[in-house]
Amino acid sequence: MSDCIFCKIATGEIPATVVFEDSELVAFDDVNPRAPVHVLIIPKEHLQTMNDPGPEHEALLGKMMLTAARIAEERGVSEGGYRILVNCNADGGQEVFHLHMHIIGGRHLGPMA
Ligand code: AMP
Repeated sequence: MSDCIFCKIATGEIPATVVFEDSELVAFDDVNPRAPVHVLIIPKEHLQTMNDPGPEHEALLGKMMLTAARIAEERGVSEGGYRILVNCNADGGQEVFHLHMHIIGGRHLGPMA
């Protein structure tokens, strides 16, 4: 989508600190990290929210989860623990309307607010 900031990161039009990329996914550091490790994983395909994937995206979503766990391992937070989070729409606090998964760790996160 032409005016989507995460699509522009996926195409390299907007710079980001990319930590992983393949034909379907890009992972990059969050520009406003809430913890020492705060990485976002996006599909290159523009899906607006978690409401939009269909059965055809089952493997893609599974790959996002496995990629998150691998990045957590690479960043050294696997043992200590981390949080995987997807915000959806207004009540979920979604600000960028391109599906993304947060990987947050590197400090004690405490209970969910
Ligand atoms: P959400 O509230 O789930 O939509 O989260 C959007 C996240 O995207 C926030 O944590 C922002 O800090 C992050 N973000 C916004 N713009 C950029 C950018 N250009 N590069 C990296 N992260 C970004």
